[in-house]
Amino acid sequence: MALPVVAVIGRPNVGKSTLVNRLCRSREAIVHDQPGVTRDRTYQEGFWGDRIFRVVDTGGLVFDDDSEFLPEIREQANLALAEASVAVVIVDGQQGVTAADESIAEWLRGQAVPVLLGVNKCESPDQGLAMAADFWGLGLGEPHPISAIHGAGTGELLDRVISFLPATTETDEAEPIQLAIIGRPNVGKSSLLNAICGENRAIVSPIRGTTRDTIDTTLEREGLTWKLVDTAGIRRRRSVDYGPEYFGITRSFKAIERSDVCVLVIDALDGVTEQDQRLAGRIEEDGRACAVVVNKWDAIEKDSHTMSAMEKELRAKLYFLDWAPMLFTSALTGQRVESIFAIAAVAVEQHRRRVSTSVVNEVLQEALRWRSPPTTRGGRQGRLYYGTQVATRPPSFTLFVNDPKLFGDTYRRYVERQIREALGFEGSPVRLFWRGKQ
Ligand code: GDP
Ligand code: GDP
Repeated sequence: MALPVVAVIGRPNVGKSTLVNRLCRSREAIVHDQPGVTRDRTYQEGFWGDRIFRVVDTGGLVFDDDSEFLPEIREQANLALAEASVAVVIVDGQQGVTAADESIAEWLRGQAVPVLLGVNKCESPDQGLAMAADFWGLGLGEPHPISAIHGAGTGELLDRVISFLPATTETDEAEPIQLAIIGRPNVGKSSLLNAICGENRAIVSPIRGTTRDTIDTTLEREGLTWKLVDTAGIRRRRSVDYGPEYFGITRSFKAIERSDVCVLVIDALDGVTEQDQRLAGRIEEDGRACAVVVNKWDAIEKDSHTMSAMEKELRAKLYFLDWAPMLFTSALTGQRVESIFAIAAVAVEQHRRRVSTSVVNEVLQEALRWRSPPTTRGGRQGRLYYGTQVATRPPSFTLFVNDPKLFGDTYRRYVERQIREALGFEGSPVRLFWRGKQ
């Protein structure tokens, strides 16, 4: 189930990024906490009330000198709008209505998507209303005065935004589980794929995917139907020489995006490389379930301590996937290859798990008992009122507090650890959203 999409639209410099940062801020603190991993961000998760959504910032609709809406930019914006549940148009209240605002408005009036109009940079409440009133003429409905910098009015606007989001529906459990085998070239992805599919060819049916060069394979394991994502991409890469630096990372990213669960394959002989870390980071960031498979285990000289020692070493470099189970396989001998589905099935189950609010709050109470929230030098103490799970895939929790700024990374990580210790969620990332009282 994909998150609903909110498109933020407007010409450059009206304050779109400022508003988007305000929406997505709480997650940011934790994201930046993972050094050494390149982040390839495509979208951000925003949240308000008990809703989580994807925020697509169209990046500033640019106009040429005649204020003509350039066709290719219009095309891009159309694509962004096509998947959006609601569009938020931002204009600059201090500048007043510009020709560019008018062309955006004209274009939007022809779109099916509901539109909300935010008049930004309205810092003073009384002037704000007057400034906003000028924008009635755009024909986009009521102009809402806001100040993205100070937060004035943004709450009311966001209440309106989430009222347009579709109700979250639980997904059909009978849907096949999308599993992506992800990894650098030569780690053994195609060998694993052959080991998985080879012996059971009868029940393997290639299905033409949506794009021309995508072939998905479906099979039954662990009582579930699995669809292996982009197996053509795995097989094809071997015949093409991209050179050592380049590999189809974009294609890997797409496969991650299409998946419910990723099997990240690491080469036991090489250990965790920087590219492995990029893939792992992306899996975490996209909120996918994951199992780590350490392949070529047959090629390692080992005694009874080797596996746990190696697991420790690999995990030190994959610390942001510390929740993912790890399996040591050999595609060559077939050792443990079938267990991949068993651990992936657990990860998928945890990814979809829902925990009642009373259980969440028992865990939070317990966490608070062991360690109180920090107090600032000024003597202000953080207060955590209650929490609730607001989404699955991945399990996401909103924690209501007096002021999110009073909760630093150390305490946030502590609470996340407590939640994991008590509730598990093995194989799935977990999201915490810290929300202040409105
Ligand atoms: P974008 O290009 O639309 O993403 O705009 P930005 O978010 O980068 O903001 C453009 C400029 O407007 C920056 O200098 C911001 O500091 C400023 N700005 C954004 N929001 C506000 C606001 O609410 N009030 C005022 N006075 N300035 C703002
Ligand atoms: P891919 O590029 O990730 O699809 O990797 P391949 O499946 O093409 O494997 C790359 C190389 O590693 C090939 O020479 C394989 O024979 C070898 N290989 C794959 N899996 C194993 C394994 O479990 N053990 C050993 N020793 N070699 C393997």
